[in-house]
Parts: sequence; structure tokens; C-alpha cells
Amino acid sequence: MMKEIFLYYSMLVPVDGQAEKIDFFKMSKSKKPFWERKTLEQMTTEEWEKLCDGCGRCCLEKLEDENSGKVFYTSVACRYLDTWTCRCLEYQDRIHNVPDCLVINPKVIREISWLPKTCAYRRVFEGKSLEDWHPMVSGDVNSVHKAGVSVRDKVISATYVPEDDLDAYIINTEI
Ligand code: SF4
Ligand code: SF4
Repeated sequence: MMKEIFLYYSMLVPVDGQAEKIDFFKMSKSKKPFWERKTLEQMTTEEWEKLCDGCGRCCLEKLEDENSGKVFYTSVACRYLDTWTCRCLEYQDRIHNVPDCLVINPKVIREISWLPKTCAYRRVFEGKSLEDWHPMVSGDVNSVHKAGVSVRDKVISATYVPEDDLDAYIINTEI
């Protein structure tokens, strides 16, 4: 039997020390970008927010098999996700307005197993570099869409899908 599980999105983290002023696209060649020289815990709030590639994948409704614990993504997006920009329409108030939106921090990233493999937070946590299509690498905020990684044009809003019908939207490919 399937049960609906929480949604997830990036969340501000406590800042450790002074925030760095970084111009990502004019960075000195000799200085590694922050995501290569800092752990998730060491990132400032500004850096943490910029790390999100804006794919929107984590805002898809998910179902968990109650027996095996396996998590399945669906092609149904949270009703607060703009399915074109792939950004949250309630980002500032989501914690109050959307109880299912899981507030995460570096500790939570360690504990959950279902973040998309492409997720920049997961990649940094796993010691991997960011993909070429990440906006901070490409310098183009639309590169995540052009690369076909975002959920743009691939999902339907939960506004139009009854909760009981979610099973029918399970995505069988790994995300
Ligand atoms: S990079 Fe994508 S999957 Fe990761 S938090 Fe941002 S929108 Fe979600
Ligand atoms: S409330 Fe916003 S951040 Fe949370 S799952 Fe929905 S669209 Fe994503």
C-alpha cells in the first residue's frame, strides 16, 4: 500500500561567520568556487540558496511503499510550484502555508535518500562537482531547463489531480 510522503525544498541554514561577497561569474581563476571548498554546513545563507539549480524535481509529489519503504516520484507537482519557472509560488511563507513542505538543512540531507541524483545539494554532499548545466557553472539561469533536467513541461499541478489518483502518475524511471 502506498502512502503520501512529505515534500522537500531547500531551506535557509544558519550562517557560520561572516557572509562572503561573491561575484560568481567574475571569480578569480585561482580561487575555487564556494561549492568546491566549503561543506554544506559552512555555506552562508546566500550561498545555500544559490546552490539550488531550480530544477523543481524535489517539489514533485512522492509516494512511499509502506512495506518496503521505497519512495516513488510522481509527475504531479506540488500545487504551489509554478510548473513553467519551476519555482515555488509560496517560497517565503511555505513553512506556514504548506505543512507538508519539509524544511531541510544539511542534517536532513544526510538522512533522506530520495533527493534527485542531479540535486546540487546531494552532489555537493557526495563530494561531486556541479553539472555543466547548473546556472552557476553555465552563467545562464535557463540552462537547467535547456538541458531537460527541470520539470518544466513534464508535470501536472496537484491542483488538477485528486490525491487518490496519485498512483497513476508514478514515474518508473529514476529521477
Ligand atoms: S537543486 Fe533541484 S532537487 Fe535540489 S533542492 Fe533545488 S530544486 Fe530541489
Ligand atoms: S511549497 Fe513550494 S517549496 Fe514546498 S514543495 Fe511546494 S512548491 Fe516546493
